[in-house]
Parts: sequence; structure tokens; C-alpha cells
Amino acid sequence: MAKLNENFFKLKKNYLFIDIAKRIKAYTAAHPDAKLIRMGIGDVTQPLAPVVVDAMVNAAKEMGVKETFRGYEDSGAGYDFLRNAVSGYYKSFGADVDPAVIRISDGAKSDCGNIIDIFGSGNTVVVTDPAYPVYVDSNVMSGNEVVYANSTEENGFAAMPPKDIKADLIYLCSPNNPTGSVYTKAQLREWVDYALENNAVIIFDAAYEAFITDPDLPRSIYLIEGAKKCAIEICSLSKTAGFTGTRCGYTIVPDELVQKNSKGEDVKIADLWNRRQGSKFNGVSYPVQRAAEAVFTPEGQAQTKATIAYYQENARMIAKTCDELGIKYTGGINSPYIWLKSPNDMDSWAFFDYLLNEIQVVGTPGAGFGANGDGWFRLTAFSTHELTAEAMERFKKLFKK
Ligand code: PLP
Repeated sequence: MAKLNENFFKLKKNYLFIDIAKRIKAYTAAHPDAKLIRMGIGDVTQPLAPVVVDAMVNAAKEMGVKETFRGYEDSGAGYDFLRNAVSGYYKSFGADVDPAVIRISDGAKSDCGNIIDIFGSGNTVVVTDPAYPVYVDSNVMSGNEVVYANSTEENGFAAMPPKDIKADLIYLCSPNNPTGSVYTKAQLREWVDYALENNAVIIFDAAYEAFITDPDLPRSIYLIEGAKKCAIEICSLSKTAGFTGTRCGYTIVPDELVQKNSKGEDVKIADLWNRRQGSKFNGVSYPVQRAAEAVFTPEGQAQTKATIAYYQENARMIAKTCDELGIKYTGGINSPYIWLKSPNDMDSWAFFDYLLNEIQVVGTPGAGFGANGDGWFRLTAFSTHELTAEAMERFKKLFKK
């Protein structure tokens, strides 16, 4: 008889978006003519940039010609053309990342989940609460205990190091999903110092870095001195360039990141990650890597930044409406998420039902991201201008009553 990984039974029963889908299904069954506006799931809505599509089409054509056809990529770590392009991108905002330590992935979610494979059991894992669910779920699946660093209204939903806890692994996400908060350099400095003091490893999720417009805010943890000794950075083109359905990302494990094994010997974390990926991952398709390379060309940057500006205009509309209605929120600037306080002390699922029933606007209940998310609610800027404007009109009618 096959034994099961019983840790799976410790996972929260339903994944957040399944609960949401069920409630929407029940509502639309009862109200088939309702015009729902979905501002819940953080998926993009705008098409790929033309330069990206051209690169993908050309690469696909190369695959159909004997002389330019490609099979497995030798290393599985990504073609040099893309690793060099990512390194150049980091340089553009002041971070020095060697192409050799960049591994191309099929997106941030898989690497955020898989990275735990290279760490042993018994680690003290610090996750900010609320957080993107993969960090907690992947640790629960591996049988690890998670302790929380609280993101609250008082600290602007930017949790700081829990100094009384000796962390081994730390998950940070900035700009944050779900709260939209962004760590300043001084705040990241505190996390890096805390990690170095504890000999801990930070797993830094930068999936939303492209939304940062304030030049003083760090778009990479490697802008903090010493971070290469303690941090892995995971990023993705999903939100940067609309790759949610195309799938491409990258993970950086610096050579300076070294931990001790049980014999007291130094082990390069990059060696473990490369070994793990070498055994379990065969790389990203050639056309997708060529498409990703195009994102980092001057033309690609201009086209993808125009799309981000489009979403930022939606975020601005939502934030302005919250300002007008006196609704408290974080995010909206330097982030595609607006994290707002449910009015009248409603819990976040009650607020979800209230918005669905009264104005047919769907958001994401904050409670789904952790205990500190209760009473809070996430709206995303990934809709169209028209639907965002319509949703905000409905908000105004409802809350001005
Ligand atoms: N990290 C965060 C914080 C996210 O919000 C998401 C997606 O919503 C991801 C990672 C996953 O991105 P990808 O599409 O690259 O797997």
C-alpha cells in the first residue's frame, strides 16, 4: 500500500480562490443576468507586447527548420542570451547580478514552492502574515512549522523582523501580495541584518518589482549590502510583461550564499539548487525564452512599461475612490494591489458577500491570506479602465448612501 504524505492533511481545506469561485457560481446561478466585475484574482488582462509576440513567432519558426531546431537546452538553467538580458535589466536599476547565478524558470510560483526541497526539516520558517499562500502551503506539505511576522495596520502592513525568534528561513515579498506595501531600503536593511545575525536565508519574492515607480524604493534585495550572503531572489515576467499564460521567470542564488552542513562544512546553496533543478526540471521552451529576452530590449521595455502604466491608472482610480469615501487602504502606488479596510468592522468574507450581493463587484477577502488579513480586502488593478471605472462608480453609490 502506498503511504501518503500526511502533511497534506494539515493544509487549509480549501484554496482561497476555490471558495471564491463557489460563491460566485452560486450567485450567478441565482442571478443569471448580473453583470459581475471581477477584481479578485491577480491575473493580467492586457495582451503580450508586439515585440514579444514577434520574438516568440520567429523562434517557433526556427524550431521548424532543421538547421535551427533545438531540443533540450544543455544546462536547463536558461540560454545565455536570456540570463545576460536579465543581468542587464538588474544593472538598469543599480543591482549587480552575474548572469551565471541566474536560473530561468517557468515562473515564480513553482520556484517559491520548490525551493524548500533544498532545506532540511526542523527549520524555523518565518512568513509574514498576511502572505501569498504558496510560502505557507509548501512548508506545510514538507512538514515544517511556520511562525509569523505580523503585518498590521499599525506597521503599514510591512512586517519587521520578529527579534525574539531565531529564524532559519524567511519569506519576504515586496511589493507585497496582498497588501501592496513596499519595503524601503532601511526596512530591508533590518531584514538583511536580522538574517545575517541568525545565519538565516531570506527567500525574496520580487514578482511585482516592475510596479515600483519611486526610485528610492528597492526593486531587488541585492540593492542592500550583504544581501548576497543571505538571500535568494525569485522573480517572474507574469506581472512585469503579462506572462501569466506564457510562463517564464528567474531565480537568483548568489555564490556568496553559503550555509553549513551537519558536519560543519560550508555548502554553497546554489550548488544544491542547481542539483535539485538538474534532477527535476528540464528548462523553459526556446520560443518562450526568446519572447522573454524581447521584454528586456529597449522596445520591449517601452511596450511593457506602457501596459504597466495602464494598470497603474486603474490602481490610481481605486485609490482615489477610497480617498473620496474615507476608506483606509495600503498599496495602489508602486503596486497593482489595493488593500482596503472593510467598512463598519465587517469581517472580510462578510464584506466579500456584501459587495457581491449589493454591487456585483468581486474582490479577494483578506482572511484568505492569513489571520491578520481578516477585516481587510484586496482589489486588483488588473482589470480594464472601463470595468475599473464602472466598479468605482458602484462603490461610490453604495458607500455614499
Ligand atoms: N509571487 C507572488 C507574490 C504572486 O502574487 C504570484 C502570482 O500571483 C507569483 C509569485 C506567481 O507568479 P508566476 O505566474 O510567475 O508563477
